[in-house]
Amino acid sequence: MTPAALSLPNGRLPPGITRDRPLAPLTTWKVGGPAAFFATPVDAVALASCLAFATRHRLPVLALGGGTNLLVADTGFPGLVVRCGTRNWSVGSGPNGALLRAGARAPLAAVARGTALAGWAGLEWAEGIPGTIGGAVVGNAGAFGGEIAAVLRGAAGYSLVCGEQTLSPANLGFSYRGSALRDAPPGTRFLLAVELALLAGDARELQAKMREYAAQRRTRTPAGASCGSVFKNPPGDHAGRLIEAVGLKGAEEGAALVSPIHANYIINRGGATARDIFALVERIRWTVLDRLGVTLELEVRLVGFGESLPR
Ligand SMILES: Cc1cc2nc3c(=O)[nH]c(=O)nc-3n(C[C@H](O)[C@H](O)[C@H](O)COP(=O)(O)OP(=O)(O)OC[C@H]3O[C@@H](n4cnc5c(N)ncnc54)[C@H](O)[C@@H]3O)c2cc1C
Repeated sequence: MTPAALSLPNGRLPPGITRDRPLAPLTTWKVGGPAAFFATPVDAVALASCLAFATRHRLPVLALGGGTNLLVADTGFPGLVVRCGTRNWSVGSGPNGALLRAGARAPLAAVARGTALAGWAGLEWAEGIPGTIGGAVVGNAGAFGGEIAAVLRGAAGYSLVCGEQTLSPANLGFSYRGSALRDAPPGTRFLLAVELALLAGDARELQAKMREYAAQRRTRTPAGASCGSVFKNPPGDHAGRLIEAVGLKGAEEGAALVSPIHANYIINRGGATARDIFALVERIRWTVLDRLGVTLELEVRLVGFGESLPR
């Protein structure tokens, strides 16, 4: 039992908060220990009550989406993990296109397929990107020349300091695989829902484009348990090329493997620990810095590794 849990009156928890939730099954790397506390607040009121609990017991807080861009430590997360928002989404058409409204936990790739099928353009690039719409906005997910910042109209957010917030694209401060939410101190800013602007398109053409993207993914990126690209591409270059250039394609640590197909992917071949993956991450960073003088920045977020390590 965690020290925080010991300090709870009679060990009783507020409604909706549970204890010791394993996180490995909630991530695509399938590694990592449990969250000391866990909740799925669907709206701002429920989130505020979760955050009050965390503040009262001085617990760190982590927002979790689909867990497709996170490395959770083997020791887990010694605080409260919240999965915010609903999985619902709907599209309303207007004279200049359509407005997609989605809860932060709506699955990005499924929404992209659904909107293309209905003849709405704007999310074709998201074919094959796992995770939630909320996680995609926080990390400004993108592929094939598209990114979510290009279609974002607004969002419903929550800040530990300011409470409920209506966020414009300017408030979200998008950058390459980043946003103001991603840059905020962990556990202080949350997304509950988003609005995306889509344009009218031809359903058959949109679906054909997505099939083409899916085919490209099948040939260029490896199957298996991963978090997609581990590092951001440095300006004008590709992290995968640099990792290959220093001879680390195929490098192993325990059951973790630098993919022989795409060197910016680390695959859990079954039974890898977060420690194995982290050891490979560090080996890559130091080798690329030492041999090529390039500092690789993490695209995935480290959770439970301690504050002194890079995000
Ligand atoms: C096979 C594979 C292929 C991939 N391909 C791509 C690709 O082509 N392009 C790309 O950009 N990414 C890619 N990714 C990475 C990943 O899918 C995306 O970054 C995705 O958008 C992350 O969403 P998520 O819901 O899983 O977020 P998570 O991994 O759960 O979280 C990511 C970050 O967002 C924060 N967060 C999540 N939800 C909220 C919320 N509601 N409020 C506040 N903060 C929140 C978390 O705290 C964390 O900091 C790939 C991953 C895999 C496994």
